Amino acid sequence: PEAAALVASRVVDVPDFPKPGILFKDLMPLFSDGEVFRQVIDEIVAYHGPDSFDVVAGVEARGFVVAAAIAYATGKGVVPVRKAGKLPRRTHSVSYALEYGEATLEVHEDAFAAGERVLVVDDVLATGGTALAALELVERAGGAVAGFTVLMELSFLDGRARLAPRTVHALLTV
Ligand code: IMP
Repeated sequence: PEAAALVASRVVDVPDFPKPGILFKDLMPLFSDGEVFRQVIDEIVAYHGPDSFDVVAGVEARGFVVAAAIAYATGKGVVPVRKAGKLPRRTHSVSYALEYGEATLEVHEDAFAAGERVLVVDDVLATGGTALAALELVERAGGAVAGFTVLMELSFLDGRARLAPRTVHALLTV
């Protein structure tokens, strides 16, 4: 609840980004405020106890920021889920539809030990396409999804329903 108010107080609405008609929620002012960033990370760690996962996976690029902080705070490692063509070794790859066009996410084939419990992290859940792709990649690479967490969920886009029966933890739902 505390963190929800903090997220709400720091998010900046940007009209027509990245495309006309889209209202982009910019969380950079939250990341750049040290006190707020720490409180937000602490609340995520309090919710997903360090005993509930073995490693953190962050979705490029803003998910990296959150994932690395959670990993450091809990003494875990961090694994990047990257956009196509960025990872240097053999990858699993999942493509998914965007509102306009298509996107691809990748993870190294050997990113996880078999059955390793993975906390998957991104900044915003919108339509859920990115999250679905990231969760599928973790499983294809042999990981077990321990949880999926975001700072903000845009509930009118119904990403949560697309992820069912998997659940999402969101600090703030708008
Ligand atoms: P989805 O695939 O439609 O759920 O979109 C989620 C992905 O796009 C996440 O990786 C977010 O970082 C990014 N994203 C979508 N909408 C926003 C937004 O309003 N603010 C920040 N990131 C967003």
